[in-house]
Amino acid sequence: MRTKLIVGNWKMNGSNFLIDRVNDAISSKVDKNSLEIVICPPDVLIYYANNLFQKSGIFVGSQNVHSEPNGAFTGETSALLLRECGINWCIVGHSERREIFGETDDLICKKIEILIEHNIRPILCVGETKDQRESLKYEEVVVNQLRKCFSKLNSTLLNRCVVAYEPVWAIGTGKTADPEQVNVMHKIIRNELASLSNRKNSEKMQIIYGGSVNPENIKELMSMEEIDGALVGGASIVPDKFKEIVDLLN
Ligand code: PEP
Repeated sequence: MRTKLIVGNWKMNGSNFLIDRVNDAISSKVDKNSLEIVICPPDVLIYYANNLFQKSGIFVGSQNVHSEPNGAFTGETSALLLRECGINWCIVGHSERREIFGETDDLICKKIEILIEHNIRPILCVGETKDQRESLKYEEVVVNQLRKCFSKLNSTLLNRCVVAYEPVWAIGTGKTADPEQVNVMHKIIRNELASLSNRKNSEKMQIIYGGSVNPENIKELMSMEEIDGALVGGASIVPDKFKEIVDLLN
């Protein structure tokens, strides 16, 4: 039985005030045994967030990490620094990082390695663009991303990762992918995880969906066998909406 997982990606939004409001909204709902909640605010808010959320059983994650352990990388944050702030999770390979900041699968692979070294669980985002879906290349694209990004991990380490299937055309657009279609993609992802590791390990790994998740569509998405949770962008910075999503998952 896989634990359900909900990850809030605040992107470049939020404040200490929003952390207080989200904590007020969901802290009484947290039961780590049935639902893991991870909030990923901008890095400068991590310390404040972790102090508060820790007491409520909510995990704090980062949205990015540098691939090197330290050095002259102005403006960047290392895995060691994240660990120092008590971070246990980190999103890598988000489509915005791939598109806007030119991140490649090779770089993402290095980031995953350094996170694992520092005992931080990577949440790897994969997903096809609209063109790739329309030209029926989605399976090839996602499988290649998994192979390249996980190429340095053995089965035991792979187990510590989460995969977020995020079709790029569904992110921030209000267009949610069809739950049946998502379920098919998650099966493809799990099969690939089984060939990178083994079937038993792949059955334990959480595969979550991201792309315009909201209180209206979460229940149907979660009714699918292969969907273990959600990566939520826009709705995660609206405390009432995020609370509703958490309520519907509990
Ligand atoms: C995201 O940023 O990963 C995301 C899924 O955003 P949204 O929920 O706003 O589509």
